[in-house]
Parts: sequence; structure tokens; C-alpha cells
Amino acid sequence: MNTAAPRLPSVDKLLQHPVLQGLQIEFGRSSTTDAVRHVLDGLRHHLLDGSLQAGQVSADALTQAVQSRLTERFAPRLKSVFNLTGTVLHTNLGRALLPQEAVDAVVEALTNPANLEYDLETGGRGDRDDLVEALICELTGAEAATIVNNNAAAVLLALSTLAPSKEVVVSRGELVEIGGAFRIPDIMKRAGCQLLEVGTTNRTHAKDYAEAISDRTALLMKVHTSNYAVMGFTKSVSDAEVTAMAHERGLNMMVDLGSGTLVDLRHWGLPHEVTVRETVDAGADIVTFSGDKLLGGPQAGIIVGRKELIAQIKKNPMKRALRVGKLTLAALEPTLRLYLHPEKLAERLTTLRLFTRPQAAMQAQAESLAPQLQTVLGDTWVVEPAAMHSQIGSGALPVENLPSFGLKLYPASGKQAGRQLTQLEVRLRALPRPVIGRLHDDALWLDLRCLEEPMQAQFVQQLAALQ
Ligand SMILES: *Cc1c(COP(=O)(O)O)cnc(C)c1O
Repeated sequence: MNTAAPRLPSVDKLLQHPVLQGLQIEFGRSSTTDAVRHVLDGLRHHLLDGSLQAGQVSADALTQAVQSRLTERFAPRLKSVFNLTGTVLHTNLGRALLPQEAVDAVVEALTNPANLEYDLETGGRGDRDDLVEALICELTGAEAATIVNNNAAAVLLALSTLAPSKEVVVSRGELVEIGGAFRIPDIMKRAGCQLLEVGTTNRTHAKDYAEAISDRTALLMKVHTSNYAVMGFTKSVSDAEVTAMAHERGLNMMVDLGSGTLVDLRHWGLPHEVTVRETVDAGADIVTFSGDKLLGGPQAGIIVGRKELIAQIKKNPMKRALRVGKLTLAALEPTLRLYLHPEKLAERLTTLRLFTRPQAAMQAQAESLAPQLQTVLGDTWVVEPAAMHSQIGSGALPVENLPSFGLKLYPASGKQAGRQLTQLEVRLRALPRPVIGRLHDDALWLDLRCLEEPMQAQFVQQLAALQ
């Protein structure tokens, strides 16, 4: 019996194999060689510990293993998925889908030099905020605007500029935590400000703000309670009232709007969400909001407000660290421009189009998809078209639901239903374009709001892989 390590083909020899020659053309010689080494090392290990016999290693198995390793290594980690969760602005799935106009502009900006910070009139240095500032001011009624990476950065930058080492007064009912560790008290600390909480969780009165103000106060702040609602015996003070109190004492008033829509959503039959313009009109000196929530654009934090305050914010050295890149600006500008044509907004702005999709459209889709899904899942599953409710998501209008339609899937037999459901969820996630649904009430719910007609064919096509 031979106790030495059984012989495996050499790396050089394997690289001559016709299949591996092909892989070298596709993936390159160095990556293919790395993959061959990796596979041979693994095999050597198994041969030595006796879990594999030399005779069991075929050339086909070897080349197959090398190919799998290469394919896996070159496969993108960021993949498109079907968002059938019912949450339109799903933070974990990338929030807003951008309109085609923004996509085209990003491609253009990616492949060509552009006047990002270049003044085409003077030939001198420009300011990247200038590309969108006038448009934002027109759409919000604000005097000036500046853009940073996201709204968390906007809040951090504004606080650190307007209230360094000073007190900022916030209602206890508004000390929000947004998913992903954005908490007002923590941001305040990092911005170098002192948070002064006033009122109680459910009720804050004007006199609570008034009594808190001292010569240490720099700012009164309101935070939109975007991902929860305080209901019942509640009282909060309006933006206008807080502004009046701030201005009476020569202080500034800042609002973190969170979502901050640019239009009155009631025009499209949606619930009202306070607009940026309404907040500016109420007198807020600084307002911050996200670019990729209700606005429907790229991830960005938009700060609007009084000219001299925006000028101060732009001079803060942190602005340089938090500024956006050209792709963001390229995507933001055409998205904002869509708002100049409100009559077409619900058609062109992807997020608004999704919010306003008629329930009948989703119902027709559910009825046509149900039998197809039933066929691939077989009779151990019940596939039922069902009315359901979508959410706007990302904290906007947290308690409002949009009537929707989709498919409700549950095991035909109640035996180990929970386990069966989890397994089905896993199978759907393993599809070439993963399908993400929502487990609720002993069923897997696939809300079809975000499966617009042009994507339906792709959805159906890959179902065969479920069998
Ligand atoms: C979402 C949100 C934020 C954080 O915004 P990002 O753009 O995700 O950084 C901050 N404040 C409020 C009130 C929010 O709703």
C-alpha cells in the first residue's frame, strides 16, 4: 500500500486541458492558475486525510471544480432582485429606483469628462452644488442649498456648523432612531452639540421649549418622526410655532424632515406627507432631507435654507469629507427636473409610479401568475391571489398603507408549515434573480406592486428553476 501522497496532475499539465484553455481565454491565465492551485490543494488535503481515493479524481471533475471556482469568483456580489416585500422604498434593497433620465445621465457622466466643478463661462473653478442649487431652490422656495452624501451626513454637518459646543433643544417625542444606527442623541454628540430634551414622549408644549432656552442654546430642532407614530394622548408644537419662538430669541430653527417630499402627494390620491416647501414656508432656517426616499433620486442629503447659513455650512471642513460624487449629481439633476413637469411626474418618476399603480393592475398580474407558480410549486402548496397592503417605506408615512394585490403562498398541509415556508423563502432567494417576499400570518406574501409589467417575463422565465 502506497502511503505517500497520491499523485495529482501538475498545474502546468492541467492548464493544457482544452476546457482550461478555454477558461484562460475567458478569465485570464493568472486567475485560472490560482483556481487550479486552489482546487489541487483541496484535493491533496482530502487524499491525505483519506476522505478521497486517487482513483476517484477524474479530469472532468477537476476541470468542473476549476470552472465553478472561477465563475463564482467573477460573479457580481451586487445583484438585481425582485422586491416583492411590499415595501417600495426598502432600505436594505437600495431604496428608490431611478428614472431613466437619471440612468442615462449617470452613464454619460461615467464615460465622459464633465463640468463638475468647472465654470464654463469664466473657465475658472466652479462649485459642484451649483449644478442643482437653483433647481432645488425653485422647487422648495428656499434661498440656498447644498448636497452631501445622505441625510445623516446633512444633519451631522448642519448641527456641527450651527451649534458647536452649544445646546440644541429637541422634543423627547422626536428623539428618533432610524435603522442602521442613526440616532439623534448620538449624532448630536458626534456633531459636538449638547442635546437638551424637552417635553415627554407623547406630549411637548410650547412652554417646554420656551423654558429650555438659555444663553447656551444655539438651535431649536424638530425631527420628523418618520418611522413611527405617536398616537393617542399626544401634543406636539408646530414648525411655525417653534420657529416663532426661536426667532424671537435670535436663534435658528432646524428641521430634519427625513423623507421630505417636493410635492403634495394628495394630488395623486396618496396620504399627505409634509413637503419641503411647507417646512420652508413655516420659517425653518435649515431643512435637511434624503434624496432617495420620497424624492425618488439617488442617495444624497439635501440641505436647504437661509443663504448665510448655507454659506457657513459649505465652509465647514466636514463638507469636503461629506460631499457627493459626480454620479450622485448626475442622477439628481434630471430627477429634480422631472418635478418641473408635474403632469407627467407619476409616469416618469419611478417611485411615484410605483406608489400610484392601480390595485387592478396588480390584481390582473396576480391572477395570471398564480397558475404558473402553482404549476412549478406543485400541489403541496396553495398559491392564492390576495389583496394586501404595501408600505411606502424608509420611514415615510409609516402608518399609511397602499391597497395592493399579490400572491399568498402556504403549504397545503399544515404540518411543519413554518419550516416549509422558510425553505420556500430560501429557494426563492436562490433564484438567478432572487425573489424577496414577506413572511406574515403563516404565509409567504409576494406583493406585486414593484413587479411592473416589463419585468414580468423575466420573473416567469426563471420560475422553472424552482422545480
Ligand atoms: C431616513 C432619515 C434619516 C437618515 O437619512 P439617510 O438619507 O438614510 O442618511 C435621518 N432622519 C430622518 C428623520 C429620517 O427619516
